[in-house]
Amino acid sequence: MNWIYLSPHFDDAALSCGGLIWEQTHTGDEVSLWTIFAGKPVQYPRSPIIDELHTRWGSGLQATDMRMNEDIQSCRLLHASYHHLNWLDCIYRVDHQGAPLYPSQDSLFGKLNEYEAAFADILAQEIEPLIPPQAQVVCPLAIGNHIDHQLTRQAITKIGRDTWFYADFPYILKNQAEISNYIEKDWIAETYPISESGFQAWIRSVLAHRSQLSSFWKNTQKMENDFRQFLQIHQGITLWHSHSIH
Ligand SMILES: [Zn+2]
Repeated sequence: MNWIYLSPHFDDAALSCGGLIWEQTHTGDEVSLWTIFAGKPVQYPRSPIIDELHTRWGSGLQATDMRMNEDIQSCRLLHASYHHLNWLDCIYRVDHQGAPLYPSQDSLFGKLNEYEAAFADILAQEIEPLIPPQAQVVCPLAIGNHIDHQLTRQAITKIGRDTWFYADFPYILKNQAEISNYIEKDWIAETYPISESGFQAWIRSVLAHRSQLSSFWKNTQKMENDFRQFLQIHQGITLWHSHSIH
């Protein structure tokens, strides 16, 4: 089987599905992680969220290069290939006057800026021809409502092919009760068990995204505990399969 995981940002697929990706490549499946918003800005708008995140990541203006390298390492640990698309992360996107569209932490998890009303259509048109017909596409549910996660889901929905969906980690930890709001009634859930080796590979693949860890966890022990607890509760990693009418 040939799997394509759509990752809005460099770390999303590893965070949400790293253990499953390892299990799949371990049994001979081909897996590729496609980061959608992996573009490198030519110019940086002035915005509080950029300053805050670049400081937190310890990257300065090298953020995209640094995160790209982290992803390459992470994919290597999962025996998956990677593909970096050239769209900008929402923190770097601007209107025609150069004003940032998403300048604050709150704006990252809110409504799409009107300026981007047609963006999901454009994304769909760009992504569709890149997907081989036989590939199994895995897309985020967009739990947590991050702008770029919402756009990824909207684009794949517009493409209208059979798709698998994953729960966005770690946002799912805080929004467990809401998960049914993100799943269509006729979708089929499939839970895949994760071996101890798969679990260890999952942790290593997340640790490879080291600039990102402080956004979510105080230390690596707390991080590992969250993943261990998640697996104990869910008995594996679940994907939901949509049945397209097309
Ligand atoms: Zn993300």
